[in-house]
Amino acid sequence: MHSLASGTPKNVAPVVKIVVIDTLNAALHFCVSLELVWAFAPDARLTMNPIQLFDPASSTYTYLLFDADSREAQIIDPVDEQLERDLAVLREYGLKLVLVVETHAHADHVTSASLLVEHTGALTAAPEACGIRTAALQLQDGAELHFGRQQLRALHTPGHTAGSMCYLWASGGRRHVFTGDTLLINGCGRTDFQSGSAAALYRSLTQVLWALPDETVVWPGHDYEGRRHSTIGAEKRNNPRIAGKSQAEFQSLMNGLNLPKPARIDEAVPANLRSGVRHDADGAALMAVRPASGYAGNITPQLAWSWVQSGEAMLVDVRSDAEREWVGFVPGAVGLAWKQWPGMVPNPDFDRKLLDAVPSDKKVLMLCRSGVRSIAAARRGTELGLEAYNVLEGFEGDPDEQAQRGRRGGWRYHGLPWRQG
Ligand code: FE
Repeated sequence: MHSLASGTPKNVAPVVKIVVIDTLNAALHFCVSLELVWAFAPDARLTMNPIQLFDPASSTYTYLLFDADSREAQIIDPVDEQLERDLAVLREYGLKLVLVVETHAHADHVTSASLLVEHTGALTAAPEACGIRTAALQLQDGAELHFGRQQLRALHTPGHTAGSMCYLWASGGRRHVFTGDTLLINGCGRTDFQSGSAAALYRSLTQVLWALPDETVVWPGHDYEGRRHSTIGAEKRNNPRIAGKSQAEFQSLMNGLNLPKPARIDEAVPANLRSGVRHDADGAALMAVRPASGYAGNITPQLAWSWVQSGEAMLVDVRSDAEREWVGFVPGAVGLAWKQWPGMVPNPDFDRKLLDAVPSDKKVLMLCRSGVRSIAAARRGTELGLEAYNVLEGFEGDPDEQAQRGRRGGWRYHGLPWRQG
């Protein structure tokens, strides 16, 4: 028996840390991981591979598989709302994501594939027959997906959708199959929309998946009752949808389900056919107030400008006089330094001048160079009884790799009005 403490820090410590720093999702992730640790004792206890992650809103399972030597990883069916969690897990485990793989074009959630690509440089892979034309790798039956010295094999299993695939992986002396919505624990994906076919699903289940060894571990795309994995043998024997049923019986059962339309289908399918790129986005997120502690909220430069234009807010530029003079300023904004050159000494007149400048019925929006000093200023404004906001990104944004500002966000970068001199 290995003890957890004898594992490499890379494999063990991070999970505990995630639980400490994160919220319910991470706790769920921890529970799932821990359960797997014991399910595959003793060796897998040190590797937790695959890592099973859960999205409570859509009951979707996402799987992260990695090669322990090279640390290359791939992720199956990631969910857009879980992007930050998934990036945190990659960081904590020290993994390099090389592939983002879809089992099909989902109707119940939007994939984070394109966002993960932007963050990690991974390639996208999807079944060719799903019509996800943005995916870099268009998979056909039998395609092999490599990560480090590991490989995943694609099995075309039409039925839930015409393009649906399962992925087979041999690791740690076991075979694993990631079944998407083709096979669920005691269930299977519906076949009544999106090119679904009960006849095709029957063939995929009985001829493709049932041909795998009984002990193959089944990792489903969803579970609504907290179950995490099964085996081919158990599903063959017990799955009430298909065990002991003829094709005709299966088809009549599937065709009589009369399930409601998935809530997000109209939004999810078009987005998922483009790897999650939101061409239907209406800018709502850009114009929403984000919560903050100690002041009224964080807002984008774009929202700040729209409030200034409508007259409901005053923009207060809290950079030093020198910065405003040298770098540029926003016409109409109140210039009121939070700290002054030389030495960045706190401005002793800040409170008085702020209260003089801002009418009590207006919001006050604090702008600095990159959105740090403006947080302190927004907190102070709040203490003085004002409705104070921090303008994210500041006037110049964050520095890029060459330490140059103005190329990575900021008031100027977004094309909002400013001038110099
Ligand atoms: Fe589905």
